Amino acid sequence: MPFLLLWALILAMCAPAHALAQAGQSTSFPTFDVSINGSGRIDVGARMGVLVDRGGLLTITQVRSLGPDWQAINRKSANFGFTDDTFWLRLQLNNTDAQTLARLIELPIPFLDHVELFHFAGDNLQGHYALGDEQPFAQRPVQHRNFIMPLTLAAGVNTVYLRLASSGTIEAPLRIWDPVLFSAASNDENLLQGAVIGVLLIMIIYNLFVFFSTRDINYLYYIGFVASYLLFHLTLTGFTFAYIWPDAVRWNSFAISTFIASAALFTCLFTNHFLKLKSFSKPAFHLVRAMALFSAVLLCLTFLLPYSWTVRVGAAITIPIAGTALVLGYWRWWRGARFARYFCLAWTAILIGLIVLNAGKLGWIPINIWTENASQIGIVLQVILLSFTLADRINNDRTLRINAQAVALGHERKARASQERLVEATARANRELEARVESRTTDLNATLEQLKVANDRLLMLSTTDGLTQIGNRASFDAAISVELRRAQRQQISLTITLFDIDHFKRINDTYGHLAGDACLRALSDLMRPRIHRAGDILARYGGEEFVIALIGVDAEQSIAMAEEFRAAIENLVVAFDDHNIRFTASFGLVCAVPAAQHQVRDYLATADRALYAAKDSGRNAVRAAVLAD
Ligand code: GH3
Ligand code: MG
Ligand code: MG
Repeated sequence: MPFLLLWALILAMCAPAHALAQAGQSTSFPTFDVSINGSGRIDVGARMGVLVDRGGLLTITQVRSLGPDWQAINRKSANFGFTDDTFWLRLQLNNTDAQTLARLIELPIPFLDHVELFHFAGDNLQGHYALGDEQPFAQRPVQHRNFIMPLTLAAGVNTVYLRLASSGTIEAPLRIWDPVLFSAASNDENLLQGAVIGVLLIMIIYNLFVFFSTRDINYLYYIGFVASYLLFHLTLTGFTFAYIWPDAVRWNSFAISTFIASAALFTCLFTNHFLKLKSFSKPAFHLVRAMALFSAVLLCLTFLLPYSWTVRVGAAITIPIAGTALVLGYWRWWRGARFARYFCLAWTAILIGLIVLNAGKLGWIPINIWTENASQIGIVLQVILLSFTLADRINNDRTLRINAQAVALGHERKARASQERLVEATARANRELEARVESRTTDLNATLEQLKVANDRLLMLSTTDGLTQIGNRASFDAAISVELRRAQRQQISLTITLFDIDHFKRINDTYGHLAGDACLRALSDLMRPRIHRAGDILARYGGEEFVIALIGVDAEQSIAMAEEFRAAIENLVVAFDDHNIRFTASFGLVCAVPAAQHQVRDYLATADRALYAAKDSGRNAVRAAVLAD
């Protein structure tokens, strides 16, 4: 509702004031008595005659002659809104003193393009000023931000005509001043304006520093808005033209539009960003973004299109933008966003300020210093509240962040504790595993040791003849092939001797099998120390038959050794029970340097033949045979 009201107010303000009451000469030519002792300040208000000059072509002479066309201003103030027409205003000043009187006419609307004043005493043109913001500031008769026109009033009736033309709104809240009083009032006014400007500047600088430390873009948007508003206000009140760009006439003629557009743009950016509309409501976000885009385009267009057009559009979009910001702020607040509350208060402050100002202008409430400066008070309140808004948001965000950090810290602590537990458990498991591995390794080593012993024993058992404790047939077979290859390699002689106990059967038969065993053991014990060189082999070849392998011993030596063995056996006496058992053995040998084709079996077969020969010859003999090629 407040926006509709405001909108209605603005429209009422801007509506062309064509419905001017037709009135008689007296009401359309008001007279003000002035004297040295009279009032030092007269607020003319709407007490003037007005003449609408649609083409703007009328001259002062024509205007003076058009008596019946003059009308009274049928409204509370001389405000004609946005209009392309030229307006003529007139009033009479009756100097009741006998001498001339110095007075100033103030027109406090610094953005009017053309202001022309004609001062007549009777029919004599006493004074003429052609002013307006299209002239360099220095050309003004009084170097003041408002249009000040000094008059020297002749005694009696003076008439004053004002011609106003502007591409924006046309207003003429004229004041007639005693020059001394004016200067005092002007100082007061400047003080008030200076205070407003000071507050806004401080907010800009302060928030700029806050921006530098927080890097929160909201501050830039806020500063952009305040700076735009400040420049708008300074341009509207003529300060910028008086003090900042007194010669930039062209720029000054449209700067108001530019600042309105940039204030609108920053309002949209600030609203969108501050209220976090993107995550709150997509339609609201797009609406405000569209408004921002529109404002940005308008901002550029203020440099290209006529001021009369851009200022109207600018004024028209300001209300919906401010209204949207306010509605969205309250919506956001209502939906639980506490940070939106100062934002709402800020926009409410400026809204109330504008309503009061316009209500005062429309005469709905009495005009006083508060109502006249309501918009200033409103904007100062708004700017301060918006700054609170930002501080509040930062506080809010910080609280949220601290809470989030505390939660995160809790999680982290828990995670670290469970990680420590995990590490501890892993270490324990590792220690247990190591201990178990160690004990298993010890067990394994013991088992391996046992296995080795068993293997050794097994090997021994498998290669040793159980009865005689010399090598068995298998151990001979394994060893002899190695020796044969060695002999082949080194081309040295290999001797294989087979010997067999003569008539052993008889010993068994006569003394018993155990006696036979004793004989076999005794024979082995006899032979073992005689076959001791490395590579020499002694083995039980089977039953009562034995085999000897010698390396590097020639045939003669081999036969001699066999003879020696035979003789030793012949002399051996085996005591068993009460018997002394004697026996002999027959020897068959082969001695040769092995050729490549020779096999162990060739040697064995040849030695066996020799053994048969020895048996055949009557036993207890040594025979040698020749290895076939
Ligand atoms: P020859 O002079 O022709 O060699 O006659 P011999 O009786 O020695 O030969 P023969 O091959 O006919 O008999 C061998 C005997 O040796 C037969 C067997 O009972 C005996 N004998 C074989 N091995 C063992 C043994 O380990 N212990 C005993 N006590 N006798 C064995
Ligand atoms: Mg025998
Ligand atoms: Mg035999």
